[in-house]
Parts: sequence; structure tokens; C-alpha cells
Amino acid sequence: MTKEQYKASVKQLIKWADDYYKYDDLSATDDEYDKLNRLIVEYEKRYPQDIDPNSPTLKVGAGVLEKFEKSSHITPMWSQEDIFDDDELDRWIQRAFKIVGHSDFICEPKYDGVSLNLIYKDGKLFKAITRGDGKTGEDVTNNAKTILSIPQTINHDKTIEIRGEVVIKNSDFHLLNIQREKDGKQLFANPRNCAAGSLKQLDSSITSKRKLYFVAWGVGHNSLKMDKISDIFKFLYTLGFKEAPIKKVCKNKNDIIEFYNKMIKIKDNIDIGLDGMVIKYDDIKHHTALGWTVKYPKWSCAYKFPAVEKTTKLNGILLQVGRTGVITPVAILEPVLIDGSTVAKASLHNFKQIEKLGLKIGDSVVVHKSGDIIPKVIKVLQDRRTGVEENIIKPKFCPTCDKLLLQEDILLKCQNLNCKDRLQNSIIHFASKNCANIQGLGSNIVKTLIKQGVIKDILDIYNITYDKLVGIETFKDKKINNLLEAIENSKNMPLDRFINSLSIEHIGEVASLTIAKKFSLGFVNVSKDDIVAIDGFGDEIANSLVEFLEINRSFIAKLINTIKPKELKIKEIKNNIFKDKRVVLTGTMPVNRSVIKKNLENLGAKIGSSISSNTHFLIYGQNSGSKLAKAKTEGTTTLSYDDYLKLL
Ligand SMILES: [Zn+2]
Repeated sequence: MTKEQYKASVKQLIKWADDYYKYDDLSATDDEYDKLNRLIVEYEKRYPQDIDPNSPTLKVGAGVLEKFEKSSHITPMWSQEDIFDDDELDRWIQRAFKIVGHSDFICEPKYDGVSLNLIYKDGKLFKAITRGDGKTGEDVTNNAKTILSIPQTINHDKTIEIRGEVVIKNSDFHLLNIQREKDGKQLFANPRNCAAGSLKQLDSSITSKRKLYFVAWGVGHNSLKMDKISDIFKFLYTLGFKEAPIKKVCKNKNDIIEFYNKMIKIKDNIDIGLDGMVIKYDDIKHHTALGWTVKYPKWSCAYKFPAVEKTTKLNGILLQVGRTGVITPVAILEPVLIDGSTVAKASLHNFKQIEKLGLKIGDSVVVHKSGDIIPKVIKVLQDRRTGVEENIIKPKFCPTCDKLLLQEDILLKCQNLNCKDRLQNSIIHFASKNCANIQGLGSNIVKTLIKQGVIKDILDIYNITYDKLVGIETFKDKKINNLLEAIENSKNMPLDRFINSLSIEHIGEVASLTIAKKFSLGFVNVSKDDIVAIDGFGDEIANSLVEFLEINRSFIAKLINTIKPKELKIKEIKNNIFKDKRVVLTGTMPVNRSVIKKNLENLGAKIGSSISSNTHFLIYGQNSGSKLAKAKTEGTTTLSYDDYLKLL
């Protein structure tokens, strides 16, 4: 590194640190930050005369936001020395060994959250201060008071500083982001980001809704008489602070490494984000002996976990057509090693997500991967753009069959029944119970028949012959005949089941029945206006059906020709006094109300629940209340139950 590079690197690191600590924004991954930080430290060791007094290597955190009151810690809140491999761990232990010899270590998780110092006076929470620059932080007392896991009072009347991490549990983080997605709000990139942003709200009522969680990991100023950190922990738990999900007193290096590997293995099962393991000398008398640097105590370090977030480049977008025809965009990435495996693709969920991220091809992006979780693009680093990035265009046509796609707010779907990528599902759904109900044509058989080339589309089901099935895997005489019979029996299925069998988005059993009753076989030519005119049918259903018909009309005509679905008989209701009239029922009737309702509906009446000027009849029973009075003012004809019987 040259002196010029050093200066530029310091500037870059200051910006990243400011974004991270002050503005809770992510402009670099921890991994990048750590790497640059180490290059700077190396340079500063070699050329101490060049050290920039503003270098972040000399500072804890990155100062304080103006919007909050500043407050001082009683004793400084240190940062941690980070170590990244077993050799560094060995060096860290050796360095201390020369001074204190053999001693126990207390190991517990390093939480990926925001550090907070709680000052208790006379047993009451007096102040809550963020780490800030280590001496002074932001006073977030009012916000801390909304966090349930922070005791408002403790059974200890001496002044004490209790330190810990404010986090949001992974499960709460996901729920919050789901809600924000629904509300059209910007998503939080990760739980740390979310916890920090939530703790530093000027309006405490927002903080109180965020389900923040506090885990204690140490003490600052105190007058405790304990000799060991592990005993202090036990004391904190008796005061009502939450316990670390996992911790251990380790005897030596091997013990530490074994516990570290165990923690990595189980960290994804813990509901709090962990990014490393903190190792401290358990014996407090060693702390004074080992001392402090300008930045951190020498008796404590953080053994970081392998990075789960890394920066890479988006090279392109792949469109995946799912089994149901839904199109999912997948990010094609410059391959990058994350958490032990090479990541070259990442999920983007849908085009709405691309829009929200502001993603362009060629962008630098932050990718998150941990354990078995599918890698995700969580952030676009827009300040790294060079101007050559390209917009991502939402496709209009299916990448597989080239047919027009159904476009909704989030959903993007190929509606072509015979699209190669969704064919298998089209057929499985067609043959299922509430559709064509072809027994013996379950998903495994469908897969086999497609593979063997026996069926290429739904229509081919009706071209299956005995000869075509003979010799295929498990098909024996009886099974073949049963299947052929079931196929034959599916002909003349009721029209509503036929419509339901076409897997049209938003159109299930109930909607199919309505459409079949309303349009009969003419449904293949309905317009958008015809559909939205039906009670309870909106634009989404109308668009879906009309576009589906547009794409599949000639194929459906062939299907109808072969299957000849049975049109539904619509009973002609004879003229009677209740036909097409609005009727309301009130009071206690001599028979069950649902019986009367059913009877009236059979007569063609429409049953309402409240009286309006459109109501024709009110049928009242015992103890009728306000409805009877209202009917009189609205001019509704009122009938007692006996009057009603006489009219039948
Ligand atoms: Zn398609």
C-alpha cells in the first residue's frame, strides 16, 4: 500500500464506518470492512509516522448523531479486537499467557446488534446510552424503556452499568419485513440494521412496536465483589436479564476451538443473529494485569464467524418458469465464496423486489447466505455505480413458450396450458379429484406418461389406448383397463368442474360454478366487462380469465369438442310473490331461520340483513326489535310468520 492508497483507504473506511454506526446504512459488508481495516492496520504498523489522526483504527464506533441528546458512560465502553482464524487465536492467547499464565476463558456469542449501556441508580433504570465513540453516546433512555427484556428496576441499589446488545429476533425480523412489504415500505436489509434503526427512533412509540430484545454481556462501572465474569453473569440473570443462548467456560485453546465450531454449527437454530464468539479471561484480576489498548481490552477478543454477507456483482437475470407457470427472476452473480460454498445465483422473489432494491445489471450487491438458507440479494450498493449499469426489463412474454404473460402487482405467470415448464402441473391439476377426477392419473403416473411421450398435452389423455400403455413400468392389464375406464368416465363432466380443471389463476371451484351458471359454454368468449358485472368478481379475476382464454381458446375448443362438458341446468323459478324480491328476517321464528331462508331462496328471493328502502318484505317473529320499527318508516311490507305461510 502506498501512502496515497493509505489516505484513500482511510477516507473510504471512515465513510463505511459512518454509514454503519451513525446512519445504520449498509454501504459495505463486514467482510469488506474487516479486510480494508486490516490493510490499514498493517500500513500503520510499518509507517507509524504516517498515521492519520482520523483513522478509524484509533476509534471506537463512529461518533454520535446530532438528533439525540449526548450522554457519557461512567467507564468507557470498549470495542473488541477481532480475530479470524485459529492462528490468530493462538497468538492472542500466547500474548496474554506470558503475563498471566494458564487461566480459564468464558466464551459466549457475539450478537449482531447494537451495543447499549444501561445505567441503574438506586435500583432504577436511570439512563440507556448507545456505545457512540466509547466515551459518549446517544441517550436513548425513553426508547430502552419500551424494551420488555430490559428491567425497569433491579434488586441492587448501588450504581451499576450493565452492558449488552439490542437485537431483533430473526423470526420477528421476518414478520416485520413481511408487514413492511405489504405496506409498500422499504425493507430492512438485515436484523442488525433493523435493530439499530428501531432503537434510534425519535418517536418511542415506533420503537415499542419493533419487538427489540436485550441480551446482557457485561458490566461497566460497578461495586460488585465477584472474582469471575461467569459469576457476574449469574448475578445479572438473577436481576432479570436474559441469559445468553449458549456459553461455556473453556480451559484452553482446543477447548475454545471446539466450542467455536459447535457454535457455528448451531447458530442458525438460534433465533438471534450471531456473528462470532466473544472470548474473555474469566478471572477479573487478570484484566488489570493485561490492560487495554486505545481501542479495546487485551483480556477479551471476538472470534468472528465466516462472513455470511459478501459483496459481488450482478451479471444478469435468469427467468425461471415454475411448475405452476409463475415466473421468478433469479440473480446471476459473479461467483463468490460465502459461508463455505460458492454462490453464483441468488433468489430475487419477484420483479417488485427488483424494483424495491433498485437493482440494475452490473450493480455491486450484498448477498446473504447462511447455512441451508437460499442466498438472497439484500442490498444494492448504489454509490459504486459507474454509469454502465443496465435497467432490468420486466418480460412481457414467457421465456419458455413465448406466450403473453399474466401481469399482476407481484404475480407474473405463464397461462399457456401447454407451456413445457408447466405442462406436468396443468395435467396433474386437470386429472385431480374436484376437476376431471380421473382416478389412476396421479402425479407419478403423469410424470411417467409425459416422459414416455404418451401424453404431450391434456387432450392426449383422451388419445391414450391400451397399446400405448402396455409395457410401461407398472402398467398391467387391470390397471390399464381401470385407467381407460376412468378417462372415458370423465367425459361429459359438469361444466363447472371442467372450468375448474383448467387451473386459471384466481378461479377455483366457487368461481367456476358461477361462471358455468352464468355463461354456460359461452364462457370461452366472455369479455372483461361481462366478468366484472358479476357480483364479487373484480378486475384481477377478469384479467386472468380473459388473458387465459386469449392464449388457450383454440385448445379449449378442442377439449370441449372431445370432452363435451355437461352444461348446468338452471331451474326456471315459477312466478311467485317473493321472486326477485329483497327479504329481511327478524325476531325468533317457530322454525329454524335457515330453513325459512333456504325456502325463500328457492323461490328466487334475495335475503338481506338490514332494512333499506330497497327491502320489499320484513318477516318478523317473537321479540322483534328495531328492524320492525325501521321497516314501518321505510314503507317495507311487514309479515308475521303466519302471514308468510299463508302467502306460500
Ligand atoms: Zn410459457
